[in-house]
Amino acid sequence: MNIPNEGSMNVPFFRPSISETAIAEVTECLRSGWLTTGPRVKQFEFEFAKFIGAKHAVAVNSCTAALHLAVEAMQLKAGQGVLVPTMTFAATAEIVLYQGGIPILVDCDPATLNMDFEDAANKLEAARSGTLQGSPIEVVGIIPVHVGGLMLDVDHIDAFAKKHTLWVVEDAAHALPSAYRSGADQAWRMCGENTAAVTCYSFYANKTMTTGEGGMAVTSDPHLADRMRQMSLHGLSHDAWKRFQGNSQWDYQIVAPGYKYNLTDLAAAIGLHQLQRVEAMRQERENIAEFFFQRFRNVAELELPPQLENRLHSWHLFPIRLCLDRLSIDRNEFIQCLRERGVGCSVHWRPLHLHPYYQETLQWQASDCPTATHVWNRLVSLPIFPGMTEPEQEHVVRVVTELCAKYSLRQPAAQTNPSGT
Ligand SMILES: *Cc1c(COP(=O)(O)O)cnc(C)c1O
Repeated sequence: MNIPNEGSMNVPFFRPSISETAIAEVTECLRSGWLTTGPRVKQFEFEFAKFIGAKHAVAVNSCTAALHLAVEAMQLKAGQGVLVPTMTFAATAEIVLYQGGIPILVDCDPATLNMDFEDAANKLEAARSGTLQGSPIEVVGIIPVHVGGLMLDVDHIDAFAKKHTLWVVEDAAHALPSAYRSGADQAWRMCGENTAAVTCYSFYANKTMTTGEGGMAVTSDPHLADRMRQMSLHGLSHDAWKRFQGNSQWDYQIVAPGYKYNLTDLAAAIGLHQLQRVEAMRQERENIAEFFFQRFRNVAELELPPQLENRLHSWHLFPIRLCLDRLSIDRNEFIQCLRERGVGCSVHWRPLHLHPYYQETLQWQASDCPTATHVWNRLVSLPIFPGMTEPEQEHVVRVVTELCAKYSLRQPAAQTNPSGT
């Protein structure tokens, strides 16, 4: 390989950005003696709901837990179907299976990678009529995912759900903060500001803000909020913090077989400070995305992510697509080359219908979601994170452009022409 890794720079796929104030808050929390769910979680929930513009926020220990509590609160029953995009992480569909439900996998839109509503309508019809799985399935809900932080058309989701009598639970693991408006003259709506019955966020280490592990469920419905809060802590009638607040509230009652999903105050201590910076961190990612757009504009071997009107993009991911008909190497080889040259990257995702469990146990086939089947072989997510330095950004651009030139089928001469930075 004759492309030097200059100064052996190594750009990770992601590096969390934790402020000194967050670290100090964690220390203070440790010294306070209250480590599990307590005052910092309550404050975090309050601040989070305020930031989103939602009425209620329930802090939990992952987005997966939030999604599970959401579909449980929507009273998803065994045997009922839920429309889930195939282009998503394991969690979005497995929480349907936790309830004994049936995830009905929907293909993606070729431009945005978000759920394709035409295929959603077709799959819904096939499921309800019995042609999808042999016998009719009662389809009750839909779980949209805003892939990479680029929001789906919220009006379209609303209309689709109304027309087909479905509840909507949003997987907003990438969409913090993201926003949508119906038109240039309309008001912005934050993802989670009444964009679904329940909207779920992730604070996993490499998400747009982190608490190490953590998640949040947001809703405007007090009954859903109460149910999720109760089920997040063993189905107890009072949560632990309230029990220990005076009035000798030692007596609790188990009113349902719940889960152990509560967030710790230690995690909330980090979350409080991450939340304060979440929009500033988004702007940093947006600037990096802008830099990538400028510098990759003329690279014929790449397709860049779409930029839609009336969206505030979180830029959680910067997924490029390789034009494989213009390259002599495939996606996996491309990723191998990136790694060798010190560029961390990832793929979002191998679609669910191409995983062994979904194929062997649930009988999904590659041809069931053809767009996702074809596009995923072209996907590479590049590093994009707050605190990514200019030399790091330059390194990513240089390595990607040089690889495209080196392995281009169109212009082998480009090999001798350094990227001109
Ligand atoms: C990360 C992620 C999740 C799961 O988040 P956790 O907090 O790790 O449970 C769910 N859905 C999507 C789309 C994700 O990217």
